Amino acid sequence: MTDCTDIGDGLRICQECHGRNIDDVNLVIIHRSHVAKNARQSAFFFAKPEGGTGRKFPYHFYICEDGQIEQAVRLTKAAPGACNSNRVGIQVALCGDMRKAPPTPAQLASCKVLCSELSNFLGQVRVKGHSEVPGSFGDPNKRVGGPEECPGKCFPIDEVRQYCVANFVPVSVDRREYLTSKGYIL
Ligand SMILES: [Zn+2]
Repeated sequence: MTDCTDIGDGLRICQECHGRNIDDVNLVIIHRSHVAKNARQSAFFFAKPEGGTGRKFPYHFYICEDGQIEQAVRLTKAAPGACNSNRVGIQVALCGDMRKAPPTPAQLASCKVLCSELSNFLGQVRVKGHSEVPGSFGDPNKRVGGPEECPGKCFPIDEVRQYCVANFVPVSVDRREYLTSKGYIL
């Protein structure tokens, strides 16, 4: 992964996410985030009571419009972006509203590389849009085809999955070592 930014200082206004066993993780979940341009700005939204996630930051990764990937929550913590799937999910948010427009080419390219490396770590390609995961949202409007569908109908989720399958390489070293070597924060 390139350009991973530890934005821990920007997130101190949010509450600490709960710890989890990284061996339980088995799913990458894609979201949209149209409240801010980057994770630091987004943290100010989620730190408020009306932010909707108990003042915790809900995404592990934030992909900005220019393709910059920011890691906002350690992978050993459960980012609360997907209700029942928080313990097993890696939450990836793309800045923008993909109900109305596709991600930028730079964003999509970064998302493919991120999801591909995370799939290699998981040992399987299991990448889903938030609305595709049963029990991962409380608002019925978030169902597939609903007005709040996440990340939204303009996000090419099948293209991302196909990229991950085409680039799948089983990890031959320790799985945690693999993540660290790629610049991820555990
Ligand atoms: Zn979502």
